[in-house]
Amino acid sequence: MPAETAPTALMRQYLDVKARYPDAIVFFRLGDFYEMFYEDAVYVARTLDLTLTTRDKGKEDPVPMCGIPHHAARAYLTKLTELGHRVALCEQLEDPRTVKGIVKRDVVRVVTPGVTLDEEALDPRVPSFLASAAGTPRDGYGLAFLDVTTGDFRATELPSIEALVEEIARVAPRELVLGRGDDDRALGDAVKATFATLPRALAPAGDVDPGPVLRKALGAAFQSTLPTLPTLPTLLERWPRAAVAAAAVVRYVGATQPGAELPISGLELYQRADTLIIDEQARRHLELVESMLDRRRVGSLIDVLDETRTAMGARRLRRWLLFPAIDVAVIRRRHDAVERLVATQAARDGARKLLGDVADLERLVGRVRLGVATPRDLAVLGRSLTALPALAAALAAASLLQLGELAATAASEDDPLRILVAPDAATAAEVAAEIVRVLRPDAPALTKDGGYVNPGVSSELDEVRDVADGGRDRIAAIEARERERTGIASLKVRFNSVFGYYIEVTRAHLGSVPADYRRKQTVANAERFVTSELGEFEQQVLTADERRVALELEIFSSLRAKVAAAAEPLLAIAGRVAAADALASLAEVAHRGGYCRPVVDDSGVIDLEDARHPVVERLAAGGGFVPNDVHLDPESEQVLLVSGPNMAGKSTLIRQVALAVIQAQMGGFVAARAARIGICDRVFTRVGAGDALARGESTFMVEMRETAHILRHATGRSLIVLDEIGRGTSTYDGVAIAWAVTEHIHDQLGAKTLFATHYHELAALAARHPRVRCAAVAAREWKGDVVFLRKLVPGSASRSFGVEVAKLAGLPAGVIDRARTILRTLESEAAPTADVPRPLVPGDAEQDGQMGLFGQSGPAPTRGSGPASGVEAEVIGALRAVDPDELSPRAAHDLLTELAKKLTPPS
Ligand code: ADP
Repeated sequence: MPAETAPTALMRQYLDVKARYPDAIVFFRLGDFYEMFYEDAVYVARTLDLTLTTRDKGKEDPVPMCGIPHHAARAYLTKLTELGHRVALCEQLEDPRTVKGIVKRDVVRVVTPGVTLDEEALDPRVPSFLASAAGTPRDGYGLAFLDVTTGDFRATELPSIEALVEEIARVAPRELVLGRGDDDRALGDAVKATFATLPRALAPAGDVDPGPVLRKALGAAFQSTLPTLPTLPTLLERWPRAAVAAAAVVRYVGATQPGAELPISGLELYQRADTLIIDEQARRHLELVESMLDRRRVGSLIDVLDETRTAMGARRLRRWLLFPAIDVAVIRRRHDAVERLVATQAARDGARKLLGDVADLERLVGRVRLGVATPRDLAVLGRSLTALPALAAALAAASLLQLGELAATAASEDDPLRILVAPDAATAAEVAAEIVRVLRPDAPALTKDGGYVNPGVSSELDEVRDVADGGRDRIAAIEARERERTGIASLKVRFNSVFGYYIEVTRAHLGSVPADYRRKQTVANAERFVTSELGEFEQQVLTADERRVALELEIFSSLRAKVAAAAEPLLAIAGRVAAADALASLAEVAHRGGYCRPVVDDSGVIDLEDARHPVVERLAAGGGFVPNDVHLDPESEQVLLVSGPNMAGKSTLIRQVALAVIQAQMGGFVAARAARIGICDRVFTRVGAGDALARGESTFMVEMRETAHILRHATGRSLIVLDEIGRGTSTYDGVAIAWAVTEHIHDQLGAKTLFATHYHELAALAARHPRVRCAAVAAREWKGDVVFLRKLVPGSASRSFGVEVAKLAGLPAGVIDRARTILRTLESEAAPTADVPRPLVPGDAEQDGQMGLFGQSGPAPTRGSGPASGVEAEVIGALRAVDPDELSPRAAHDLLTELAKKLTPPS
């Protein structure tokens, strides 16, 4: 690169770019490499394990530098954005061969964690949101989020920082943009306290006047869920916080795509209360999109429900799951469609097979609009659009077959199974035809070599292509003529990349070489020559080839612009295909799992017959899952206390009710023989200690915080699922708190509640409160072992089977026997009363809770005294010193091994 030997000028250009992108790592294109300099180079070399070199070696001030080949940039980009960095891609804007001096360079795109266009770095089934939040405790908060790959852009307003953080968790953005003001900092701290890993970007959002920014980005188009708010002035007036957040998103994303229009056509405004609210807690506890244990998709509800065939469908299904509806009409419309698809298996199979041929229209159109779609992208888009009429017919068959005479309903514009609605259908057909006409079906991803435009599209292109390709015939002609002229039968015309075209003559015939041949090179057995005719010919071919590539690029760019102009109707179709795919998936899952269509209404009643847990059922091999009936009614059976031994199936049962509500309200069928679901406004859960422990809070503290959250927000239309509250403290405290919480829910909130507990004392609540019912998941003792029946029966559990479960878990026989003895003593001493929860054993309750059990026969046991022998007392002492919830499985295992060893007599 001789033109660029002036290092200072080049570095000046670099520093100029870097000054404009101080918060990004600058990938500076030099020929075939992206180079990084100074601190960027030092950091990236260390982080990505690259070799750090220096530019201007030997000078006083060598510049640290490292580089990556440009064709391998993708992997490095992904790694850096995953670490939360932004990378500015600074490209050469001119061809270095045609420029003297420094080539013009500028940033063409900034890649950030939330603004990535690389499909390989993105999970196609999950949207890739960049979000921004703004606001103050006094005025409330705005939240906006945009998936730049599809143009999906939504905003809402929230009254409190707590609600804001919950909504951010539900949206799960890949990046969050915050302003730099004091309020923004407080907001940032609250967000950081909740998500340790969310990448965060800072942008001066507070000083944005949202009006001009949004007007430019959105024009007049507002798809609002509130039909009364169609215009920009109304948006600014009625949703000022959402507007500020939305403007910050637009500005931030706009700055990452200099020169390109943002792929946004509208802003969807929603209110949290328009959907079934599922907060972070419930989303995790119910394992909706990832399992609680290892945070993977396997073992989650979405893993069971997602039988979609397109990425758009998968994203739509996920949206329905995380934002279920509360409008009975919307839900019934989806159920209608699912019912039709369940009933018409052949049509459903046909439609699903055809869906498999449809690519990710939303992201393809997004790439077209951003000007990054490749010829291959467009060819794929063309094929997908061509497949739509057959898909539409298959879906229509599902509607018609089922409805027969009632087909009129199916034909209505808003039938979710109707994907091709006029005039969008006509536009899609035109676009498809144009793509198929212009592009070869096997068009490559790169434009640099051309070769993707069909013959017959442009006569000029056809001509230069003839010259470029026709080279072979001309060569053959020249070769034949020269052989004849020279009489050298073995003469050959050849090509190599160093000399271009040349004539090769073997050594034996050198004497016959004419005078106009100019010698170029000597090889082992021959000499190579050029002639002026060959030189001219070569020039023609090369020029034609360059012209061909340039012409193809022109044709392609204009095709891409045409497709971009049709983006709106194409996206409308894509949205309907996504919905149809999600519905077909719900139908497929309903069919395979034998789910039923729930009756949904505003009654508030939940009535499930033979209900199952969709995820546990799938894991339980060979139909071993035991179904159960559950009935909840705010008027009569509002609170269901579910007792039963550990491992009986209590959590599974209470969670499956919450899952049935969510599945029904997202538009799906539920895992039951029959179901009636009164619409809920929120689902709350309080389950197990969870992973909040990692944040350094005690089990009890987390439990109480989560319970407080529920009591503050639940309404008479909410469903609450409580698993074992009060477990993190002493029995007395635990029973007392559980008792009081239940009373509060019963007397004040009116929310339907499922409460799994093994405090038998709580059974007494049923006698004193009209809307509390007791049930137990049955278990029986059989020859000293516990047998789980998994059946929900009225009344409360007679026994806790704790000792039997401990035996199942492998506690040594000596300990089990001793525990049985102690239990018998205790049971004979403490007779339960039905009125109020009484301490199991009066005595050291205050001081000792659980272990006050031993207080009856004297002071709490210490080493070598009390009812246990020395070693056993030591073991018991050690056990009482631990909080099982604070132990890792590994530490628990080590402790058990150590204790068991103590109890085994030395042999
Ligand atoms: P608990 O909350 O009472 O301790 P869980 O709900 O955690 O019990 O259930 C314990 C195990 O029993 C689960 O891992 C599950 O595999 C199994 N199980 C639960 N309910 C059922 C059921 N209805 N049918 C079959 N197996 C079940």
